[in-house]
Order: sequence, then C-alpha cells, then structure tokens
Amino acid sequence: MKIDILTLFPKAFSYLDCSILKRAQEKKLVEVNLTNIRDFSKDKHKKCDDYPFGGGAGMLMMIQPLYDAIKSVKKRNSTLIFPSPKGKVFDHHDAQELAKKKHLIFICGHYEGVDERLFELFDIKQFSIGDYVLTGGELPSMVMIDSISRQIEGVLAKDSLSEESFASGGLEYPQYTRPAVFKKKAVPQVLLSGNHQEIASWRKQQAYNETAEKRPDLLKK
Ligand code: SAM
Repeated sequence: MKIDILTLFPKAFSYLDCSILKRAQEKKLVEVNLTNIRDFSKDKHKKCDDYPFGGGAGMLMMIQPLYDAIKSVKKRNSTLIFPSPKGKVFDHHDAQELAKKKHLIFICGHYEGVDERLFELFDIKQFSIGDYVLTGGELPSMVMIDSISRQIEGVLAKDSLSEESFASGGLEYPQYTRPAVFKKKAVPQVLLSGNHQEIASWRKQQAYNETAEKRPDLLKK
C-alpha cells in the first residue's frame, strides 16, 4: 500500500520510523511519502492560512496550496482522508476496510480547519478519532495509519490479529508473562497448566467478562 501524507508539519511524523511501522516499510508492505503543503503555496511568503470570511477566531488553511498538493499525488485509485472532529468516529472496521486500498492520501488540517470548498472539489472521507479537539490532523493521521497498517497482510505475525480487541467484536482477555509470581501476585493457574482447551475456554470467558465490564456497548452490537 502507498500512503501519502499532506501536512504543514512533516517533522511530526517521526513516529512512522519506529517499531511495526518501520518494519512494514522496510518489508515494502507500506510505502509512506510526506509532502509539505507549504511547498505548493503561490504566496511569495509561502503563506498557507488566512482569515475566515465573515470573521471569527483563528485562521483557516487556504484552498490553493491544499488543492495543488492533492493534485500532485492523487491517482485514479486514491482514497482521500481528512481527519476531522466532524467525521465519523474511526473504528476497527474502518481500519480493516482501508487496509484493502492501494493508495491512501491523508490531508492534515491545522489552525481552525480548512476552506470548506475542499470537500466540494474532492471526494474525501472524514474521520474523527474521538470527541475532543486536537491542534492538527497529524496525530489523528498517525493513529489511523498505525491501525490500518496492522491490518495489512504480512505486517504482523500470522494470528496476531485474530484475538486482538475488536477482532471478533469484544475486548481481548487479560495476558501475563514471566515471572509466574511477582510481589505475591500469581498468574492464573490455568495458564500454566499446558491444557490448551482449558486455556482457550478460560480466555473466552475472560474476554466476555472484560467486555461486559468495560465496554458493555460492544456486547449489544
Ligand atoms: N475548528 C474545528 C472544529 O471546531 O471542528 C477544529 C479544528 S482543529 C483545531 C485543527 C485540525 O485538527 C482539524 O482540521 C482536524 O484536521 C484536526 N483534528 C482536531 N481534532 C480532531 C479529532 N478529534 N479527530 C480528527 N482530527 C482532528
């Protein structure tokens, strides 16, 4: 998959060079390309923001640099994504669906947002990562890119995804690692039993309990 990120703050994306995302790029399963929207400004000072018509607090990203930046990377099969508090709340299913696409373009808003004509000129999916306001679309884009990349075949070890939270609708069971006893706290005996059937059934019950306690809304779905 190819991922283009259009941003005024390319430096914010250093996280993409870490851990699983780094490995996904090294394995050529994901190719990430950063574009600085400011490079497309036709203003002599490379300005990309301006006052909103009608007044009001803050500045807006201007349409011209955004339009030209998108045009420079967009292909016929591209899926355009704009992180926004006004978008659909991004979830596991969205990550799975977007992982099937060949080319994603993330457009990062900043300041008070963007000139609304952006959404008339291009077909853009808008996603929110929660009901709060962040300073820019950089963190939400990274959140989505991380979660989408995990869903691409070959990025994680086989079977890693199938038991994760949300994979079958609920939350994952609790997990433990060595030592078996720490500060007088022992891991559940069943996990040391070597009985795979009992372990599987304990995990299933625990996953249900976790979901019922922490996210009962998921059980209703
Ligand atoms: N004025 C906007 C509003 O009230 O809806 C908020 C603008 S916010 C300061 C700047 C940019 O951050 C947004 O254009 C969007 O790209 C991004 N952003 C902020 N909160 C977000 C969220 N919860 N989910 C996704 N993107 C968000």
